[in-house]
Amino acid sequence: MSEHWKIPASRALRADGLRVADIDTSAKPGFHGRKKDGEQLLSERSKVLAALQEKLYANGRSGDNRSVLLVLQGMDTAGKGGIVRHVIGSVDPQGVDHAAFGIPTAKEKRHHFLWRIRKALPRGGQLGVFDRSHYEDVLVVRVHGLVPEAIWEQRYAEINDFEQELTESGTTLVKVAMFVSLDEQKKRLRERLERPDKYWKFSPGDIDERAYWPAYQQAYQDLLDRTSTGHAPWYVLPADAKWYSRLAVTELLIEALEKLDLNWPPANFDPAAELRRLDTA
Ligand code: ATP
Repeated sequence: MSEHWKIPASRALRADGLRVADIDTSAKPGFHGRKKDGEQLLSERSKVLAALQEKLYANGRSGDNRSVLLVLQGMDTAGKGGIVRHVIGSVDPQGVDHAAFGIPTAKEKRHHFLWRIRKALPRGGQLGVFDRSHYEDVLVVRVHGLVPEAIWEQRYAEINDFEQELTESGTTLVKVAMFVSLDEQKKRLRERLERPDKYWKFSPGDIDERAYWPAYQQAYQDLLDRTSTGHAPWYVLPADAKWYSRLAVTELLIEALEKLDLNWPPANFDPAAELRRLDTA
């Protein structure tokens, strides 16, 4: 905690009872200060995150099977890619298991929706990141009626069981739903169309999806109401300010890693004896 961030991010961003339609996407829960204070804090806290992640990785190398999995969901332009680049980008890439989930391939479609997800789970000691996830199967799939309601309806319970199994086997889930306003989304889409260095981020379908915002809001509401559990709660992240969303996710990850109470793994050799050997080598 610091003078600019005083309560745990997990408390400030907890989704319990929240109405998606009421989210103030420009709010900065947990943070007190100005943008420049936030940016300064982010640069300090990134170092704390990197040190904790190194400890997780070191323990993984010594057989610890615990891992942390950041699940990022959000409408187009919400900033999922920015979190991956700037938050996850501040830690040692060796210790990161990154997976992005787009439209399922023909092969993936032949399998249960969790099949491709299970294959991408982080190994022990890794910080996993899902850029989109199994939640697409109750979001885009539901909004566009890609499978019958009877199928997507049962997925909420399947997801809860799956995530319980995951947490019991040592994975801490940090589920973050990012929200930008429709106006902010328009601004970001416009930027992608006006700047050649951003064309690659644009898909024409992103504009069509804006018409479905009310249906997405309903789908996100049900997702929060039905899959925010004690073992795997959702965090709701107002994402109009990129610097804030990066700081908030950094805080959430630091908290998750601190809860693991990690120490440096003990040597499986005698350091003093090895030092003596080194002196004469
Ligand atoms: P992003 O918009 O995340 O930056 P992108 O535009 O590069 O990504 P991809 O990563 O190739 O596109 O795919 C993302 C698209 O895949 C999104 O439109 C998303 O809704 C869709 N998608 C993801 N999972 C599923 C799924 N299970 N069923 C159908 N569509 C899905």
